[in-house]
Amino acid sequence: MTISSVKQSMAPQRPAKKAAAQAQAEVAGDNVQISGSAPKACGAQLAQQGNAAAEQCAGNGAGPGAAALRTPLRMILIGPPGSGKGTQARLINQFFKAPHISTGDLLRQEVKQGTELGKQAQVYMQAGKLVPDEIMLKMVDNKLAGEESFILDGFPRSKAQAEHLDQTLAKLGKPLTAVANLMVDDEIVVKRLKERGRQDDTEEIIRERLKVYHEQTEPVTGHYQLQTLLEPVEAEGSVPQVGYNVITQINSRLRPQGC
Ligand code: AMP
Repeated sequence: MTISSVKQSMAPQRPAKKAAAQAQAEVAGDNVQISGSAPKACGAQLAQQGNAAAEQCAGNGAGPGAAALRTPLRMILIGPPGSGKGTQARLINQFFKAPHISTGDLLRQEVKQGTELGKQAQVYMQAGKLVPDEIMLKMVDNKLAGEESFILDGFPRSKAQAEHLDQTLAKLGKPLTAVANLMVDDEIVVKRLKERGRQDDTEEIIRERLKVYHEQTEPVTGHYQLQTLLEPVEAEGSVPQVGYNVITQINSRLRPQGC
């Protein structure tokens, strides 16, 4: 874990009240540091020390909660295109060491390598449409089978994908920890993506992707709300501000009661 340089204090802008009571975060660029002040020295330290914090909790007599701390992070990032899922996934990865699985990146790799799958997917990607499930489901299943923990970015994008994922994770015995819903206004998305300038970031394709997001992906949040896994995250601020929001919210789910 090398989350190091800390330059800018976030103290005046802490939005996550329950976490703010127990943790302090300082951030600079993509570097975020959370330091714990919980009585038994675990809490937010988990973010820095991973399983070492679990051991510490166990040593402190935290009881059954300590087992919960050892549970690997398995989470999903949901949000419209341009909400910063990839950037936040990289930050979360620095903290919790869970591998980042981006279906968009996996597909772009296939396109770049000129594989048959890539050729099929490219047609949909260039039109801002969803790549068919017969390609997506197998690709994600294969990836998840090999990972104990994960930060899933860009999947599921429909209720059908969410239901399939439920089944896959149940079969693998790998339950989810949390689903972070990054919330950003459409016009901010359009502005951000036009500046990013990826091949599928023309205004016409961006608007189509937003339409697809609202029609097909947004309902997925209800699916996870019912499972009490959803963490709404205000994601219009700077990268470090949003990073602070996400990490403290996830951290509060990893920390067992009374630890
Ligand atoms: P992203 O990098 O997540 O914005 O994804 C780029 C494009 O890849 C999307 O616009 C879709 O065409 C395709 N894609 C990524 N993930 C999925 C998914 N879970 N289901 C269907 N298509 C996807």
